[in-house]
Parts: sequence; structure tokens; C-alpha cells
Amino acid sequence: MTILDSTNPMHRLWSEGHWNKLTVAHGCYWKQCTFCDVGLNYISRYEMTPTDRLIQQIEQLVAETGRTRFHFVDEAAPPAALKSLALALLERKIKITWWGNIRFETAFSPDLCRLLSASGCIAVTAGLEAASDRLLGNMKKGITVDQTALVAAGFKDAGILIHAYLMYGCPSETIQETVDSLERVRQLVAADLIQSAFWHRFTVTAHSPVGLHPDEHGLRILGPEFHGFAENDLLHSDGRSETPDWLGEGLRRSLLNYLERRGLDLDVRQWFDEAVPHSTVPSTWLKYQLKNGVIDDSSETERRCVWLGGAMTYELRGNRSRLIHAKSEQEHVIILPESQAEWVQQLIVTSTPRSPSQAYPHIQQACSQFPGTVSDFNTFLKTSSWKRIRSIGLVLV
Ligand code: SF4
Repeated sequence: MTILDSTNPMHRLWSEGHWNKLTVAHGCYWKQCTFCDVGLNYISRYEMTPTDRLIQQIEQLVAETGRTRFHFVDEAAPPAALKSLALALLERKIKITWWGNIRFETAFSPDLCRLLSASGCIAVTAGLEAASDRLLGNMKKGITVDQTALVAAGFKDAGILIHAYLMYGCPSETIQETVDSLERVRQLVAADLIQSAFWHRFTVTAHSPVGLHPDEHGLRILGPEFHGFAENDLLHSDGRSETPDWLGEGLRRSLLNYLERRGLDLDVRQWFDEAVPHSTVPSTWLKYQLKNGVIDDSSETERRCVWLGGAMTYELRGNRSRLIHAKSEQEHVIILPESQAEWVQQLIVTSTPRSPSQAYPHIQQACSQFPGTVSDFNTFLKTSSWKRIRSIGLVLV
């Protein structure tokens, strides 16, 4: 089957239609991964495009091409720049559909994912690479597999598709680690947290930290010999591990099936032509993470309120107020004391994107205007009414 025959929605993004190409920033703000050409300008010279300029470029491309579909082809688009872009699109009522390349980092909170989705984001691509914390640490990727699962869940809940870049044959990677990585990927695909993925065989490149200092990573460069043209991909040997071809073939076969939702309940060993060890990853790893894992949300109190829910109407009945939200077919009614309903209404007005560079209320500012004490406010934040307001359209970003 070719990508063109695929019913996979993420694959169709690559193969169907025209996408205007832009970058949110030049280079990579992370620039630490040991397998990446971080020594080259296209990665190392990081420069964010100011949001206003990006908006101008978007408007110009829409005017020139008549198309409103954008692919941000960054090395890794920074979350802060994407947030700023999303707000600017909403404030100016610019309707586009977009996708782009990111890092699976925890700054992509579930709320930020909802904001990106509201601004037209339909998909992201990102490197999960080896799906093993030891190897991710060695390659200085700056993410863990558990956190990636939670970040992916935020994207999924916001209706954003994910393509994950995967890697095998990394320096010192054992077959046990590859099998364990496949088991984690199997669980991520089965839970629909990843809709598309591809296993790349690890390759040393000349301008990466591994290529520049192979001995520090336990590798020996075997070639190619320099013949007058620069070769970026280098052949290597790894004194600590081997990567037989059948390993890559098994990984490729497993994913081809998984992405068509076949074989997701099979033991991962069955995809390989040779005997491999049993996975050491519990079959409940992902379920446990999704239930108990916590994204580091230490900056939540710093965040600002943005309302994505559209109009909310207000009715007074006796001394209680009904806030009615009927954007979707379903009508949500929230009954509150009049003073709290007025506060919610005011919060919605001030946090609705409507004009460029507007100041969104800080959660602490909202607290200071709440009809009651700080303790009443904190109690209100735990009520089902507040949770419904948040789920209808109030994000903290
Ligand atoms: S692999 Fe991606 S995130 Fe890592 S340094 Fe390169 S561009 Fe940046």
C-alpha cells in the first residue's frame, strides 16, 4: 500500500492538496539533540518571526494563492510563538487551517492545545525518537516518554492529530530497549494518541554532536571517505550494540499494521523474524499514566484567561442566574448566584479575543474581582460550575 491509498487522516495531510509553507521561527530553540545537525545554521541560528510579521505573511499568502491551508515547516515551532500566533489569528478573525512540527514538551498543556485547535491547528508532527527514557536522556531530547503520553493526550482531546518520528539503532540501544519502545508505541497508537508514525534508523550525521565526537558516544566512524563532496551521513560501528536489518523490518511491519488499526492486541515479539525478548513494559503503562500522570503545571497561576466558547446569554430567575451557552447543538445551562454569574459574564467579555494585542485577564486579576474572599474564589474553582465553564471554552494559557 502506498501513502496515496491510505485512509489514515494524517497521511492524507502529506499527500493531498496544496499547503502554503511558512516558518514560525528560524532554527531550533532547543538545539541540543545529539543526533541533530545542531552545528549548522539552519538549526543553530534561532530567530523567532514576530507575530505581526507572521500574520502579514499569512494574509499575503492567502491573497496570492486564494488558499487558507498552512504547513509550518519549522524544525521545532516554539510553544510561546504558537500561542501568540493562535491569539493573533483569533483576535483578527483570520480563519486558516494549519499544522506544524513541534517538540513534545510539557509547555503544550491541554489548554494550549485547545487554543491552537481553536486557531485552526489540525495536526502536529514531533519526535518521540527512541521511546525510551534512557536513550532520550542520552540524546538530550529534553522529554520523557511519560510526559509525551500526557502531552499527546492534550492534543488528542483538542482534536489535533499527531505524527511521531521514531528512531531505532541509537548508540548503545539494546534489542530489549527496541522491543520496549515498540510496546510503548503500540499502546500509544491503540489509545489513538498517535495517528501516524515512522521508524527511522539512527544515522550519524557529520555536523551533529555524535558525528563530531563519536568516541564520547561509544561509536567509531567507518566512512565514507572524503571524495571532494561533503557527505553528511556517516557509516558507524557501535561497540556496545548491534542493529540487525530484521529489527528494522519488524518495526516497519508493526507500524504499517498499527496505523491501519491491525494487530494492536498482538504481542510485539510477533512482528520480528528472529526471537526477541519479552517486553518489560507493563501492558497497563499508558492507562496508568493517563490516570495518574501529571503535567508539570507550575506556571498555571501565571496564566491568562482566554474564552474560546462564543456567546453566552444570561437570564435572571429569582435570586439565581442562568448562564446559557448554545454554541453547539447542545445547550449548557449553568445556574449561579447573581453576583457570580455577573462575574463570569464579565470574565468572558474581557477574555474573548477581539482586538490585536489585547490584555487578557490574569487568573489573579479575575480573583480580585470575584464577589467574595480569596478562599471563596478558591472554593469556586473546585465547583462543577467552574469546571463546566472551563470545558465549554475558558482556557488558561
Ligand atoms: S532534533 Fe529537533 S528538537 Fe532536537 S535539536 Fe534538532 S531540530 Fe531541535
